[in-house]
Amino acid sequence: MDTLNQASELLRSGGLVAFPTETVYGLGARADRPEAAARIFQAKNRPSFDPLIVHFPDLELATRWAVFDDRARRLARRFWPGPLTLVLPRTMHEGTPRIPDLVTSGLDSVGVRVPDQPLALELLRRADVPVAAPSANPFGYVSPTTAEHVRQGLGSRVDLILDGGPCAVGVESTIVDLCGDHPRLLRPGGLARELLEDELGCPLEYGGFAPPVRTEAPGMLESHYAPGVPVEIFEDPSHLHARANALHGRCVLLSERGLEGIPCLDSIAMGEGPAMAVSLFATLRRLDNPVHERILALLPAPQGLGLAVRDRLFRAAKSRLGAAHPIG
Ligand code: AMP
Ligand code: MG
Repeated sequence: MDTLNQASELLRSGGLVAFPTETVYGLGARADRPEAAARIFQAKNRPSFDPLIVHFPDLELATRWAVFDDRARRLARRFWPGPLTLVLPRTMHEGTPRIPDLVTSGLDSVGVRVPDQPLALELLRRADVPVAAPSANPFGYVSPTTAEHVRQGLGSRVDLILDGGPCAVGVESTIVDLCGDHPRLLRPGGLARELLEDELGCPLEYGGFAPPVRTEAPGMLESHYAPGVPVEIFEDPSHLHARANALHGRCVLLSERGLEGIPCLDSIAMGEGPAMAVSLFATLRRLDNPVHERILALLPAPQGLGLAVRDRLFRAAKSRLGAAHPIG
């Protein structure tokens, strides 16, 4: 049996399959079976108040499990397959929601997405069931962008890992909530906010980095995306420079274009926008070694994918502030 068939059979029978998407690697299980979805929470050590995103091979299938209004259809038609999650009302069947409470953390809405990755789409097509899939990493740690990252983090807790090479986008999906009158950006991600606003013809409400209401977007806990080496973030290169001096250069610098003339162990030029996004998590993992002592990152401007990169760096840094921010 080929690996894809084995993977889809595993999913159908309630197993856990890690698979590549264009954003990050996902840890998949049937979303319509609570006992299957429960294995995701166990494997990741993820708190049950953090809802899962449900994946489909196309819009058509997604409409059986979530209620699409005109706005949702427009966004889906333009941006799917792609790094966009829509939060929509759950569909009902004989008075019971089709997607169980465990997956949505008891919310009446569900996050749905069609990933833009050929292996993922083929897997979802063959499995022919809705697949809940958060990032395939222990809760709170940096998301995986290669199959090797998944092996390192979850290894034997997963029934099978599909290897599709490195992820093309590198940060998680952009999440838009369409349950209310006004569309809201719940999480900046791999699809630029500007493109969404252009299609919607109105600005997205966005709370920025404000701590989220638990039941609203609980994955936005500030302890997310954290490596073990402390990360510090800067808007202004001169402040970063002063901090590097104070550390006597015992730090690694991250920036879009590279920083010169600052004492450091290494200065990494990540490239702009999508380039910084695509290598961000792999770079944080590579630097996650005590010899690097500290990571000082210069934040990109909040445009395009810069908004998502800022968000992830902010969380990587925030989680260092103390015990009030547990690292799962
Ligand atoms: P991930 O960990 O990348 O799978 O992303 C899951 C995140 O999507 C959650 O932590 C929430 O922030 C968000 N999410 C999923 N479903 C919902 C929902 N029904 N309402 C609001 N946010 C959701
Ligand atoms: Mg995650």
